[in-house]
Amino acid sequence: MPSSIASSPRILGVAVPTPLRKLFDYRPCHPGPASGWQPGLRVRVPLGRREVVGIVIECRDTTDFEFSALKPVTACLDSEPLPADWLWLCHFTARYYQHALGDTLQQALPVLLRQGRPLEARTRERWRLTAAGRDADAAQLGRARRQAALLELLRQHPRGVIGSVISAQGFNRPQLKGLAEKGLAECHEEPLTGSPIPPGGNLLAEPALVLNREQTTALAELHQELDHYQACLLQGVTGSGKTEVYLQLIEAVIAKGRQALMLVPEIGLTPQTLARFRRRFRVPVVALHSGLTDAERLDAWEAARAGRAPIIIGTRSAVFTPLARPGIIVIDEEHDNSFKQQEGLRYHARDLAIARAHRDDIPVVLGSATPSLESLVQARSGHYRHLHLTRRTSHHAPARLELIDLRGRPTQGGLIPPSIDAIGSALDGGGQVLVFINRRGFAPTLACHACGWLAECHHCDARMTLHRQPPRLICHHCERQERLPEICPECASVDLRPLGTGTERSEESLTALFPKVPVYRIDRDSTRRKDAFEHTLNEVRRGEPCLLIGTQMLAKGHHLPHVTLVVVVNADAGLYASDFRALEHSAQLLIQVAGRAGRAERPGRVLVQTLHPDDPHLRLLAESGYDALAETLLEERRIAALPPYRYMALLRFESPRESDAASLAGAAAGALRTWLGQRDLAVNCLGPAPAPMERRQNRYHMHLMLSAAKRSALHVATAFIIDWLERSSEARRVRWSIDIDPQTLS
Ligand code: ADP
Ligand code: ZN
Ligand code: ZN
Repeated sequence: MPSSIASSPRILGVAVPTPLRKLFDYRPCHPGPASGWQPGLRVRVPLGRREVVGIVIECRDTTDFEFSALKPVTACLDSEPLPADWLWLCHFTARYYQHALGDTLQQALPVLLRQGRPLEARTRERWRLTAAGRDADAAQLGRARRQAALLELLRQHPRGVIGSVISAQGFNRPQLKGLAEKGLAECHEEPLTGSPIPPGGNLLAEPALVLNREQTTALAELHQELDHYQACLLQGVTGSGKTEVYLQLIEAVIAKGRQALMLVPEIGLTPQTLARFRRRFRVPVVALHSGLTDAERLDAWEAARAGRAPIIIGTRSAVFTPLARPGIIVIDEEHDNSFKQQEGLRYHARDLAIARAHRDDIPVVLGSATPSLESLVQARSGHYRHLHLTRRTSHHAPARLELIDLRGRPTQGGLIPPSIDAIGSALDGGGQVLVFINRRGFAPTLACHACGWLAECHHCDARMTLHRQPPRLICHHCERQERLPEICPECASVDLRPLGTGTERSEESLTALFPKVPVYRIDRDSTRRKDAFEHTLNEVRRGEPCLLIGTQMLAKGHHLPHVTLVVVVNADAGLYASDFRALEHSAQLLIQVAGRAGRAERPGRVLVQTLHPDDPHLRLLAESGYDALAETLLEERRIAALPPYRYMALLRFESPRESDAASLAGAAAGALRTWLGQRDLAVNCLGPAPAPMERRQNRYHMHLMLSAAKRSALHVATAFIIDWLERSSEARRVRWSIDIDPQTLS
């Protein structure tokens, strides 16, 4: 990419927020930025009838357009370019995912910067005494008694007191001004977020734990990798103390004056995780998550860029946080699906983190109890260093999965009698019980027992879920809602019954079965209110016997020390799914759920109900554990030529008209096959075929799958087909997108 740095170029190639994969040429404005024109400066530019914020990518002297027809940039918004590491990552992302650079830059930028706000942090006032103030005697302030009190307050805090604290103590501005005018106190502005790492000082607010043998070994090995790029897979069973290893490793990184970026799954950035880090460190721990306001997000981004944020913890998009002095990237629960963005720019934060670490020559630590097959392959081939924590710090071995045959047994709330008995004894023994059921709502659907009618969504190829709180049929794919029918719309029978079990139904049955203990349901519906989830978890952590019914919201990341029994209502969803990753993902989920049992003093039990107790994969997982299953799955993937042994790209087409989507997908496949036929490029093209759920929200979805043994070959072929689609006139009527390394085929 020609991006010469010329201070007075004739042409600026600007990336603007559009899905078009090209730069727009403009003439510079006068006067330009004081430091000259460079890539990375934000500019305001005319685009059609709008004005947008773009980013200068190229400074050059030539253009393919008529020079005089080019419009000038309206204004330059920055005095210095956006951070170079950030810009590099955006270029890399756009190239790797074959996404428009303009849109990539937008997505990677805090909203306020997208809108053209200056890149500066909000500040606050800090007041402290001057030398004269420190020597002053309160008596010399005479009748100004409040000023004297203020003087005393400031005297107690040699490092100063922030303005809001002073007003909270009942002082006002005239009193502060009074001291300042007498030369006794002074004020300076400091950024609201972050502070520099104190050199040589004690970084810890609370002592680190004494590591056990395995942790010590892992940490020692990780220490050896601190000064260069190395990916390390820290595989440790739930509760084996991975987080403690991260904490001590990060301590070593910030002791060198470097910054640590830790990515956690969406569900994992809990107040407890943050609290644990903030308790440990004396330095600021800056969080980046969806709950922040735009201004807070900009503050955090700016603090990281300026180096005032020694530790940054965030979810997926935090991978785009610039770092002044990068030291390490940690990815907790690296197998988690929330690291992959499933729409628009479909990036995987783990993969970008690895690319970024490589460029910055720093280590990246991937932690998981159940690593992705992608990472396991890298560890086996020696590209990643593989470290193990096999024991729980509580000394209880992780509970084994006990498979329970569901066939032909009566169920109540999805549970068969032996499971209900086990719940009763666990509660009698003073334990807590977690019932895992990955369906929210009352029942997966409503059925007519007279004619077999099922409640289907009119906009999707899917059934509508029955909800009781409030009573409604809801499509979980398009959110469409309907009133509950009183009679069957097909045969007018009144014999309509719920089919299957969701969390609400389990809650109802278990409340009736165990009236003496509290029953808490945790799913997206029950936790819609902010803090509801935290509130319930706090109740649960008090340790009284109770029943928890939850979806995967409960399965991940939460420390529930009093749970002694976990019951999985149905383990079968992933066993025979068409998606080749389904089995891997459901094994990971099962192990995560099982990991909730027996985290503290008590050992745990995990009952897994299934209609397929003889399924070889399920048995392998139950009898030999995740590693053994992963081994088998890898072998199956190798034989079937699937990732991680092959690279994939998925083209998705969607349109309100079935024929439009099918016709474009067919034409694209034809063009691609012809093109491939003319060159020696080992790329497979599969399809087009209807998506597993063909109709969603009244739109028809078609897929075209490309795969190759070499990433470079796949890249060339996808570049060709994107170019072809961008030129195709038919493509204007059909929405299409490309997904590099797709995580799901839906
Ligand atoms: P993981 O991240 O692997 O699930 P954690 O780091 O959260 O594990 O550790 C699980 C529990 O064990 C936590 O309560 C933690 O405080 C405790 N723990 C971790 N390491 C040690 C240790 N070396 N000694 C004592 N307790 C530890
Ligand atoms: Zn009917
Ligand atoms: Zn629907």
